[in-house]
Amino acid sequence: MAISEFNLITRYFTRPAQNPLISLGNGDDCALFRPGDGMQLAISSDMLVSGRHFFPDADPFYLGHKSLAVNLSDLAAMGAKPLAFTLSLALPDTNEAWLSRFSEGLFALANKYHCDLIGGDTTKGPLTISITILGEVPLEQALRRDNAKAGDDIWVSGTLGDARLALAAYQHEVQLHQDAHQIAAKRMHQPEPRVTLGQALRTFAHTAIDISDGLIGDLQHILNKSHIGATINVDNLPVGEILSQQSQVLQRQYALSGGDDYEICFTASQEHHAAILAISQQTGTPVTCIGQIDAAPGLRFIDQHKTPLDLHYTSFDHFSNT
Ligand code: ADP
Ligand code: MG
Repeated sequence: MAISEFNLITRYFTRPAQNPLISLGNGDDCALFRPGDGMQLAISSDMLVSGRHFFPDADPFYLGHKSLAVNLSDLAAMGAKPLAFTLSLALPDTNEAWLSRFSEGLFALANKYHCDLIGGDTTKGPLTISITILGEVPLEQALRRDNAKAGDDIWVSGTLGDARLALAAYQHEVQLHQDAHQIAAKRMHQPEPRVTLGQALRTFAHTAIDISDGLIGDLQHILNKSHIGATINVDNLPVGEILSQQSQVLQRQYALSGGDDYEICFTASQEHHAAILAISQQTGTPVTCIGQIDAAPGLRFIDQHKTPLDLHYTSFDHFSNT
């Protein structure tokens, strides 16, 4: 017999809250908690839809991980510390093997960042996973998109493009050896949110954004909100381990516009260059300086010889790609 909605929530999605700020978790009409003194709440939602954001037969453990990871990544890009999240699920059926794996992947990441599941909603429907995450950040210290300054260095964490390369291989647009595909696919299925780096950057960074739709599309949000421009040195792009074995054209395309990277792009004054490198060391997160913010609007590309390049890419948009 199929498990009831109530038992499903109790069995797979109810764990005692760890954080003392949470006075009531799930099981009542609302959860109750308050942010710490001198803190403001940072709130963000991300939804994953079967067939749109993931393959219908995707491993539920990694789906659990990824649904929370993409939300944690938004908190990281704000410099916020994770506190709690809600989970709204539409499920086509109550497949307990699936639920068990999904919940394992979800809670493994939730525990790592001490982020408690405090509520949600569960209904029958086409597989859809929607999470709303709550974090806290000291007043006035959030890393917004509208504060980049001319002369700032532009930095990116980790490497770019391997998740997009893995997708291309699944879609038979690119051929990869099995081992290489597995490494790239890990970047696609199991992104590591840059939570520790994001919080450490609060002191020195002017702006930050997480890269979900491709570097240039996301950087463009910073440029628009801050009313400035930028120059990127494409030879400095931190190209993913597997992507770096592909042609230069593909490397540039996927690193600049691939999407699904969940790295952080941030800007900081040049005088803090050494401080940023020290933060990278302390947090164990590689960072690379890929260009500069300019007073003149627009996004320009140069190579290592400072030669201007005429590159055009489109970033991902759910409503322009059918
Ligand atoms: P209501 O009818 O008041 O909306 P529900 O029956 O939808 O309540 O949910 C009962 C309790 O279970 C609530 O506290 C809700 O937050 C929690 N809940 C429902 N679905 C989930 C889920 N997927 N994960 C965690 N908690 C959930
Ligand atoms: Mg409900």
